[in-house]
Amino acid sequence: MHRFPLEPDRATMTEMGRLVLDRVIDRTDKLPTRPATSSLSPRAEAELAESFLAPPPARGGDLTALLARLDEAADCALETAGPGHLAYIPGSGLYTAALAEFYNRAVNRYGGLASVAPALAALEESVIRWMAREVCGLPEGSGGLLTSGGSMATFSATVAARHHRLGEDLAGGTVYTTAFAHHSVAKAARLAGIRATHIRTVPHTPDLRMDPQAAAAMIRADRDAGLRPFLLVATAGTTDTGTIDPLPQLAGLSRREDVWFHIDAAYGGFFRLTARGSERLTGMEEADSVTLDPHKTLFMPFGTGALVVRDLAALHAAHDGTGRYLQDMASSASVPDSGRLGPELTHEIRGLRAWLPLHLHGVDAFREALDEKLDLAEHVHDTLSGVAELEVLQRPDLSTVIFRVRPANDSQAAAERADEASRRLLERINGHQRIVLSSTVVDDRYTLRVCVVSHRTHHDRITEALKIITAEAKRHTTT
Ligand SMILES: *Cc1c(COP(=O)(O)O)cnc(C)c1O
Repeated sequence: MHRFPLEPDRATMTEMGRLVLDRVIDRTDKLPTRPATSSLSPRAEAELAESFLAPPPARGGDLTALLARLDEAADCALETAGPGHLAYIPGSGLYTAALAEFYNRAVNRYGGLASVAPALAALEESVIRWMAREVCGLPEGSGGLLTSGGSMATFSATVAARHHRLGEDLAGGTVYTTAFAHHSVAKAARLAGIRATHIRTVPHTPDLRMDPQAAAAMIRADRDAGLRPFLLVATAGTTDTGTIDPLPQLAGLSRREDVWFHIDAAYGGFFRLTARGSERLTGMEEADSVTLDPHKTLFMPFGTGALVVRDLAALHAAHDGTGRYLQDMASSASVPDSGRLGPELTHEIRGLRAWLPLHLHGVDAFREALDEKLDLAEHVHDTLSGVAELEVLQRPDLSTVIFRVRPANDSQAAAERADEASRRLLERINGHQRIVLSSTVVDDRYTLRVCVVSHRTHHDRITEALKIITAEAKRHTTT
């Protein structure tokens, strides 16, 4: 037994590392053949989950046995890393980002204040500037911070907008978004002290986009009633349908009405790396702030979000703070302290897990992967549009295709029967365990969604998915 078990020696570290690496490589290699959902019965899942509630023992155990336990737990889960994950907005997790993170966590440099690890802070800043300027098209002077996800990014954007536009007096502050906004938008507003009744749902046009005229009318009516409109949140790629709000018009409207213009591009933002995406996402460069989610469309591991802002000073003003115990820390001249731009202080060098893959693979590798997702989604749209039993709603702006069982006629009863049939269709599709789709509600109708985002999803899996969906859709109408 080692005298200091928390400090394994070189040979032990090597052996432990090999055990972990072998397992990870084996799991990653087998992703294409793994079931898309857990194969355990709900009862077995509950029992396994229960067994993991046990507290840690006083004396340590064996790493091989513990890793086997971890594998059991990881198998009792939606396979979010695999090529068949077409539900929600997949987060596939790059192997090279995991390696970067292992390095990061072992070296354990401090990421809250730039002067503690200035070169690594600059490395992180390079990732943020790339996102702000190259990806989103914001000008010099823009910047931001990496967060744990999109929700935290939108929260900090809301706090910055509130601080900048309302000052200390929050009463009357109103926010504008649509029914298709992610629920994190309303949550952020409430956490930022905005009254729930002051979060306005702007009507959408039949193609599910925010209606700019309706937004303008609402803002003016609220202002006439003595309220203080301060923030408009557009979505660039809604979670439900991947639809992009009319960004240029909403940018113009925000300027005219003097409200902060935030874009939730947690899903869509990185598609600006592609030619089609940059055309469809024109207007992002006019935003005051943008939420991005590298753990979705940059294939990073979960826990990687980003907020970029036009005016870094506004973000800083809303989040700055310090303490006497930090008096030894100088401020770096060229790189901001992330601990002064958001609610968190101590955290890892978050940028490292993006920096390594971006430098190792190059930006083109990500551009091509995202372009492939757009191609695959178009292919899904075109193929399912040819299936008589299905109703495919609209051409995808991004990589989400929505469809449902076509009702027999225009009656309400037929719509309800089609909803029920769509619900069963989803169960049968997912029952194959080769792909997982999810559902939502569009125009009060139960609607299935195929969302292609994983870097591991390619043409072969989509061909298989289309075969399964088509066969099940046809089977349903004949039985
Ligand atoms: C996923 C998502 C969010 C929330 O981001 P988290 O990383 O889950 O916190 C916000 N907006 C949109 C459009 C999303 O797709």
